[in-house]
Amino acid sequence: MTTETASKADYLIELEAKHGAHNYHPLPVVLERGRGVYVWDVEGKRYYDFLSAYSAVNQGHCHPLITDVLRKQAEKLTLTSRAFYNNVLGEYEKYITEYFGYDKVLPMNTGVEAVETAIKLARKWAYEVKGIKENKAKIIVPENNFHGRTILAISASTDPSSYSGFGPFVPNFVKIPYNDLSALAKALEDKEVAAFLVEPIQGEAGVVVPDEGYLAKAKYLCESAGVLFIADEVQTGLARTGKLLACDWEEVRPDILILGKALSGGTLPVSAVLADNPVMLTIKPGEHGSTYGGNPLACKVAMAALQVIKDDNLVYNAFYLGKYFRQELNKIKHPLIEQIRGKGLLNAIVLHPGDKDLGWNLCLRLMENGLLAKPTHDHIVRLAPPLCITKEQMDECVEIITTTLQEFKD
Ligand code: PLP
Repeated sequence: MTTETASKADYLIELEAKHGAHNYHPLPVVLERGRGVYVWDVEGKRYYDFLSAYSAVNQGHCHPLITDVLRKQAEKLTLTSRAFYNNVLGEYEKYITEYFGYDKVLPMNTGVEAVETAIKLARKWAYEVKGIKENKAKIIVPENNFHGRTILAISASTDPSSYSGFGPFVPNFVKIPYNDLSALAKALEDKEVAAFLVEPIQGEAGVVVPDEGYLAKAKYLCESAGVLFIADEVQTGLARTGKLLACDWEEVRPDILILGKALSGGTLPVSAVLADNPVMLTIKPGEHGSTYGGNPLACKVAMAALQVIKDDNLVYNAFYLGKYFRQELNKIKHPLIEQIRGKGLLNAIVLHPGDKDLGWNLCLRLMENGLLAKPTHDHIVRLAPPLCITKEQMDECVEIITTTLQEFKD
């Protein structure tokens, strides 16, 4: 097919299908521009982005302050590797550790690398500080977790579509039900447990919000057992849930905090692991690293992305507009809706299970009506716009969602 015989979008979709691995199944929309809450396709049609690149674009697409910093630093110095010092890393390390209140940061790139780093730190701490016998350390994880796509992350997974066909796996993950404190207490009786790795809200599982008190009690149980509490806030952190961190809802301070995605406002992969000295200093020079981790471009961009969260009041906006959004969605009385759930601007419509294509079909119709969202599992549609959305824009989106659902009557 050439551009003459097909629409531009069809041509580009086919180009990907022909030359790219088939490891994704995108909605049939080809985007070429973004600004704030909006994205435009190659034909110039405008959409509300209700995925925000899985919460990487919390600050809004192409935020002018972030792209300005990116452009300026890109012309100056982008990468030195950690073989040498650069003049931005220290400034960034000071900035981010003060921002979140930790002794130290270990900079990485993607979310899953930061998860990997956190697990390595927890194991090192277990052997050097806790005194667990070499190679025996265990990590407790809740079922239905999502921490990325590497062998380590899928070894922790209980989702067959994530792990099937990719074994053998990393051993010593202890899997317990999410939101189950007695299962956690029991698992913590094992003296070889180094850490509990948890998402404060399970995003990929379908925006599963645990009971109030779960995180605080889980942290207390871990502390009592001398086990590290690791929060994977790659998706929930950075204002998404209406607090700076989702753990802030229960005033929990994780021993190890994992951040990613919106740490660069959607411009390049930037992730981070934060911890205090007794944990972080167990890793010595030469024992862990990444060529791109801590590069000056990423450091500048991350400082700008974090500054925008404060300057643009994104925590406040996510909190209030999230509340308003759920209130408005709950007014839609529709036989297909089982539940509206979420926190801040991380929300989902749970549809009655049955027709396995329902979530997908709803997203196709939402797309036609100018709003982009993606199902997680067959019957859950995650709704997570950039946090800069205004009330007027939100009203328009509620209208789009309402009328689209009406098209599914009967
Ligand atoms: N952890 C959580 C909670 C996530 O939601 C994700 C991605 O969706 C990851 C880790 C992996 O991040 P990345 O895709 O940047 O490796």
